[in-house]
Amino acid sequence: MKVTEHLKRSPDRPIVSFEVLPPLKGGTMDSIFETLNPLMEFKPPFVDVTYHREEFVYKQKESGYYEKTSIRKRPGTVGICTAIMHHYGVDAIPHLICGGFSVEDTENALIDLHFLGFDNVLALRGDARQFDKKFIPEPHGHAYAIDLIQQIVQMNNGIYLDDEIENGAHSDFCIGIAGYPEKHFEAPNMEQDIYWTKKKVEAGADYIVTQMFFDTQYYIDFVNKCRSEGIDIPIIPGIKPLTKRYQLSSIPRHFFVSMPDDLVKEVNANPDKSIVEIGQAWCIQQCKDLIEFGVPGLHFYTMGDSKIIYKICKAIF
Ligand code: FAD
Repeated sequence: MKVTEHLKRSPDRPIVSFEVLPPLKGGTMDSIFETLNPLMEFKPPFVDVTYHREEFVYKQKESGYYEKTSIRKRPGTVGICTAIMHHYGVDAIPHLICGGFSVEDTENALIDLHFLGFDNVLALRGDARQFDKKFIPEPHGHAYAIDLIQQIVQMNNGIYLDDEIENGAHSDFCIGIAGYPEKHFEAPNMEQDIYWTKKKVEAGADYIVTQMFFDTQYYIDFVNKCRSEGIDIPIIPGIKPLTKRYQLSSIPRHFFVSMPDDLVKEVNANPDKSIVEIGQAWCIQQCKDLIEFGVPGLHFYTMGDSKIIYKICKAIF
């Protein structure tokens, strides 16, 4: 079922959903099931699975020279989604990115997803690869998420790259996109970022899932700005509890989000207090504030660790 339909079915209570990462290559589905098993108690209507493109690593050879090698550390997004759908009977949402895909690769991926019975995709650009200064699209690939959305919409209309196909099968994907309460790091300002978000909605996006944020006011301001610009699709907040002290600096570095002063002060003032306890209490308060604001859902980034998320959900639902 489409995410938008799940949301319509629960107008009075926010739905809860989770995002999981494929295990590192060589891992098994067990780690995914271990993460999700306890969380199923909260009856998520859908689970997202991230997509990870190849990365370049430099490996030293016997000669002493370094060789640039391309590896994919976390393959298996579509297989994991299929396993989740069959194992739990819930919808699974594969993330689909522009990076590393030509438009033909994208079309083939969409055909597979359609045949496998997926109703939703989260359409993203993807980040620049390590060692690349900026995002470089694949030759004959998409440069921005909006181009990917347009291709999905074309397939929803039965239009394929091969213009000799007549009466092509129509897919009917519900299209999710990313939103950034603290703006995307490449955007010169929030106005410009919301401008492109609106363009993505006009191109056919059905719902937004936000980047994580630790100051709830950023989400509220983002929603209000989107609404005043005429963006009227559901905006689901992405939630990540703080679980390690080093995340105070690593999360801002990797995700371009800020840490509120009060949270930083609390962590620093309590060197002996468990960071998990502090992160959990902070996140529970965030969730309560978001529910009071009237969010359509809460989408938790598990990052392979469901214990704290279980406790947070237990405290809220
Ligand atoms: P876009 O919407 O293309 O925007 C990128 C930047 O370009 C923005 O600054 C925007 O303002 C600007 N822009 C947009 N369109 C245009 C245009 N037509 N012309 C000029 N400027 C434009 N990454 C992964 O690799 N795999 C994942 O599974 C994954 N999952 C994610 C899930 C969520 C909920 C979120 C929030 C992010 C996820 N990401 C993932 C990260 C995401 O790929 C990066 O944040 C990426 O840098 C931007 O993706 P986007 O889809 O927002 O890009």
